[in-house]
Amino acid sequence: MTSAAQPAPARYAVIGHPVAHSRSPFIHAQFARQTGQAIEYTRIDCGADGFVAAVRAFAAGGAAGCNVTVPFKFDAAALAAVRTERAQLAGAANTLRFDADGWLADNTDGVGLLRDIEHNAAFGLAGRRVLLVGAGGAGAGVLGPLLTARPRELVVANRTPARAHALVGRHASMAREAGVTLRAATLQAPGRSFDLVINASASSLQGAAVPVPDDALARTGLAIDLMYGAAAQDFLDWARRRGAQARDGLGMLVEQAAEAFQLWRGVRPDGAPVLQALREHLARA
Ligand code: NAP
Repeated sequence: MTSAAQPAPARYAVIGHPVAHSRSPFIHAQFARQTGQAIEYTRIDCGADGFVAAVRAFAAGGAAGCNVTVPFKFDAAALAAVRTERAQLAGAANTLRFDADGWLADNTDGVGLLRDIEHNAAFGLAGRRVLLVGAGGAGAGVLGPLLTARPRELVVANRTPARAHALVGRHASMAREAGVTLRAATLQAPGRSFDLVINASASSLQGAAVPVPDDALARTGLAIDLMYGAAAQDFLDWARRRGAQARDGLGMLVEQAAEAFQLWRGVRPDGAPVLQALREHLARA
């Protein structure tokens, strides 16, 4: 008896430098199992200068798409023929789909963060005061989706204030339409008692001090560092000492991956059990 040959799994990867630490292969393997999709997902370290060549070679070899990580999210958006509205607004992309008629760039970071805050942490954003720290690729990616959740006020504070001003300027009309007061600030004087402080800066990655004053976070608030693992610990400890809730970036990591998986495969996996499995996996590692 002959059996029909199985089609080869669709191939994806996370491309960046460095990528050895990336948990994306674990997450996408779990999504594939959960949804019954046949995919293969690897890591590609393209070095400091090899991003464009690595993406082109991966696509030319028959791959279906990739995720893009630091520091190439701005390059990824520029490489694609078509950008989703959110990738366009961010000017940065973390997901590429190698469509035959032109590559599509998307940015799933913001919607992933939003889902982690509102769904996983059950923290409604409407009417809240939010401080977003950082105006790099991650800050740019999350600002638009945060505005759609209609907080009362959103302040972007960055080490280089001009970058915060530029990001706020690009989102000014969107904020007006959503009825959100949006402004830029310095790290030293962002304002006080925010309900939510999001550290989207690379301060934790670099082992630097918590980048905003203690009184920026309300004692009843929530603080999220987009970083995770040991590097995020100081920021999380700072929030807990204030009496606030603290959350690392693993939830966002899983949820942005779920959104990318949906863009690629047309089916949305459930992030919650995969987040649980990832936390258990990391606790054993
Ligand atoms: P990026 O494009 O390199 O931007 C870095 C940002 O951090 C800039 O705003 C920079 O300010 C600021 N910064 C750097 N060092 C700082 C310090 N010591 N103190 C205060 N601010 C500092 O990086 P990115 O892509 O935005 O990533 C930022 C962080 O988010 C990284 O840790 C990354 O791993 C994490 N991330 C996590 C997820 C997730 O799914 N959990 C997704 C995306 C990113 P200047 O403008 O002054 O340089």
